[in-house]
Amino acid sequence: MKIAILGAMSDEIAPLLDKLQNYETVKYAKNEFYLAKYKNHDLVIAYSKIGKVNSTLTATLLIEKFKCEMLLFTGVAGALNEKLKIGDILYTTSTVQHDLDISAFGHPYGYVPGINVYEKTDDKLNEIAKIVAAKNGINLVGGVIASGDQFICDPVKKEWIKSTFDADAVEMEGASVGQVCATLDIPYFLMRAISDEANGGAEIDFDKFLEEVAQKSAKFVLGMVEYL
Ligand code: SAH
Repeated sequence: MKIAILGAMSDEIAPLLDKLQNYETVKYAKNEFYLAKYKNHDLVIAYSKIGKVNSTLTATLLIEKFKCEMLLFTGVAGALNEKLKIGDILYTTSTVQHDLDISAFGHPYGYVPGINVYEKTDDKLNEIAKIVAAKNGINLVGGVIASGDQFICDPVKKEWIKSTFDADAVEMEGASVGQVCATLDIPYFLMRAISDEANGGAEIDFDKFLEEVAQKSAKFVLGMVEYL
């Protein structure tokens, strides 16, 4: 199978390239796509650059141009749920765009006409993730991911997103990647490792823990490929 592995930042996919060593680089759309073979699968690895626009473009290219049949996202996120601590990893059960607001028309926050508020992820891939976690003794929890084009590092904003959407973690790409895959009928899996707690000083934790936790997420996702 041809599998896309997508991150938002170079640090999120660097551990994969380090591990694979042998890959071909294809330059396209002011970005680079890394083609490799792993466990009988063809991989196309890329980082989109941050935010919903970049991740939408790259997810679409991975599917439409590179013909990937499945997409795995690896990256980091801020925790909203107080049970999630830096270094924990979670898989996404559903996504929501916390910055999409047409409430002036009487709709709930995050509502997308024709789609609704939440986009559910793929049960089958989530089940595979649970098996991989169990086999490796990893504590993996599922949760709702709220995406928006903002780095959340403020307790008031954090509480608003958490309580409005009942979300567990916040980041900037999951909902857009999920929507692309769901619309194009491509099974997808969204994994995040917690880099910060989305409150005051989150940017300091983010810089401190990015490399270490991004590695955890990337390792997990590559481990999943062995079960596909
Ligand atoms: N330090 C980078 C910017 C990182 S933006 C630079 O200066 O270029 C944060 C990235 O990590 C996004 O890809 C987002 O998905 C994720 N993320 C981690 N913690 C987050 C938080 N608290 N709020 C929003 N996104 C977060």
